[in-house]
Amino acid sequence: MSTDVHDLVIAGSGIAGLSAAVYAARADLNPLVLEGDEPGGQLTLTTDVENYLGFPDGVGGMDLIQRGKEQAEQFGARFRHGRIDNAALDDQPLELSLSTNETIRTRTLVVATGASARWVGAENEDELMGYGLSTCATCDGAFHRGDDVLVIGGGDSAMEEALFLTKFADSVTVVHRRDDLRASEIMADRARDHDDIVFQWNTELEAIHGSPEEGVTGATLVTHPDGYPTEKSESGHDINRETVDIGGVFYAVGHTPNTGFLNGTGVERDERGYVFTQTDDTGRPTARTTVAGVFAAGDVADPRYRQAITSAGTGSMAALDAQDFLETLRGTDEPTPTTRA
Ligand code: NDP
Repeated sequence: MSTDVHDLVIAGSGIAGLSAAVYAARADLNPLVLEGDEPGGQLTLTTDVENYLGFPDGVGGMDLIQRGKEQAEQFGARFRHGRIDNAALDDQPLELSLSTNETIRTRTLVVATGASARWVGAENEDELMGYGLSTCATCDGAFHRGDDVLVIGGGDSAMEEALFLTKFADSVTVVHRRDDLRASEIMADRARDHDDIVFQWNTELEAIHGSPEEGVTGATLVTHPDGYPTEKSESGHDINRETVDIGGVFYAVGHTPNTGFLNGTGVERDERGYVFTQTDDTGRPTARTTVAGVFAAGDVADPRYRQAITSAGTGSMAALDAQDFLETLRGTDEPTPTTRA
């Protein structure tokens, strides 16, 4: 284990981690950013971001991330590969065991590890993930020119994925487990109005057919007129089952926060694993977690808004809170004026 103690380690290099890195680097905290398993986070899997302030014509997700990284590096943030497997957070300095078998020590930690795409649990999904089954249309859509494909889910991601896939696929069927979309009206309307997108309501994916050699060739779908067919079937109702020929399946059923490495620490999380952040003495939000010196930003602490702009905002909050904590540790409460501009 290195004897160095960092001032600030930022776990995650999505927009929350990058925003924290820009603020912390400007405050001369010399932050170390651990890029994690998916450097750049979810935005690298998105096409155009149209609702990030300051880009009236939209901005590519990857472009936004690359610019953010450049900006953080310009101010002195350091980036390295690695994922935290375990953390000992009871005492100062905090100790982080990495996937590379190293242990690093730090006075503060910003948890900005985001959330990963969920799978639905259909038969054969383990075998076919990456072979015609995907959680990212932006990454894999171009492999499906001329195919009929399914998108599973009814939220904004499903609409976005479906719309993107129309560039390549012959037909896109959105399979949703009930008959009412969760997606925002604007996204839902765009998908509903598209000639190449059809909706299959009250339907779930039971099994995917194919092999790694030939890819996805079909799927078994189950339907019940009142929705949630799997649950209905488990409680003894009759469901309709059909097998369809398709060339690809895209999952868009939400995300799970990447917080497993916090097991056994005092960082409190909700039942889904999202980190709780604390309010201050006046009841206003902060990025503090239940462990001193540990802060959280972005989707890992936000099952509600989950927007690029809110992630960037909470990233800046986490860096400012970490800075205040470090100043307290050093026995001075004087904020550094340059960081507040
Ligand atoms: P959501 O949680 O919003 O939606 C997940 C969808 O998947 C829901 O329709 C849900 O069904 C369905 N689902 C969940 N589990 C299963 C399962 N096991 N089997 C079948 N269906 C399932 O996640 P999203 O990723 O769509 O969106 C996350 C956040 O990101 C949202 O706040 C969204 O607004 C935002 N976003 C914004 C975009 C934009 O503005 N361009 C683009 C993408 C995301 P049910 O509805 O029945 O719960």
